[in-house]
Amino acid sequence: MATLQLKQITKSFGDTDVIKGVDLEVNDREFVVFVGPSGCGKSTLMRMIAGLESATSGDILIDGARMNEVGPADRGLAMVFQSYALYPHMTVEDNMGFSMRLAGVPKEARREKVLEAAKILQLEPLLDRKPKALSGGQRQRVAIGRAIVRNPSIFLFDEPLSNLDAALRVQMRIELARLHEELDATMIYVTHDQIEAMTMADKIVVLHDGVVEQVGSPMELYHHPCNRFVAGFIGSPK
Ligand code: ADP
Ligand code: MG
Repeated sequence: MATLQLKQITKSFGDTDVIKGVDLEVNDREFVVFVGPSGCGKSTLMRMIAGLESATSGDILIDGARMNEVGPADRGLAMVFQSYALYPHMTVEDNMGFSMRLAGVPKEARREKVLEAAKILQLEPLLDRKPKALSGGQRQRVAIGRAIVRNPSIFLFDEPLSNLDAALRVQMRIELARLHEELDATMIYVTHDQIEAMTMADKIVVLHDGVVEQVGSPMELYHHPCNRFVAGFIGSPK
């Protein structure tokens, strides 16, 4: 059974149909990339998966259970956004442990979990720092650390690297691939960058104007795009 299933999901804001009937299956431990031009509905779809936005119609299932009425905190997901708003007055350790503190996890257990995540993300030497004393890449790693400590079954990343410079983006892509291996988790990653999609994905979902144009491996999409839009967007030979 697929870890995540979307069945005929639609979303309208007023009279505007933004997501127009999306069906999708994401398998356990898959690295799935949603790619498509700005405004095609990637973030809206992610926010519905996360439970931050409700679908107008259709069903969202996680491990076979219907999630439509389940709140974001109870879906077993963690989301990392482009703007990673860390708490400026808190240290890296406290930022990473904050969700556990809200959940009433005792201090020692919090520390253990934060240290484990900090080790994976090479943040151990920075645990006592405040966000303003970190580089952009380090801050983004803290944001990822906040997700890791929640032990999610599915990670959702919405353009997490788009505020970083080109060299750092390449480095972070490699780190995310390593993280995917190490955590053995399912990851859904949104980007408008074809290169990011082609290099990171097990499976690419090409979105266009609220519709899934094609789903396939990078090589399938490259060699067998189903239409001109996919060919153009993926950069297939004409
Ligand atoms: P993407 O992430 O692919 O750039 P979005 O999901 O952010 O696209 O947006 C898809 C479309 O939905 C856009 O046309 C956007 O203006 C519209 N939209 C998104 N959120 C809202 C909202 N809260 N109210 C009205 N329109 C929205
Ligand atoms: Mg977006």
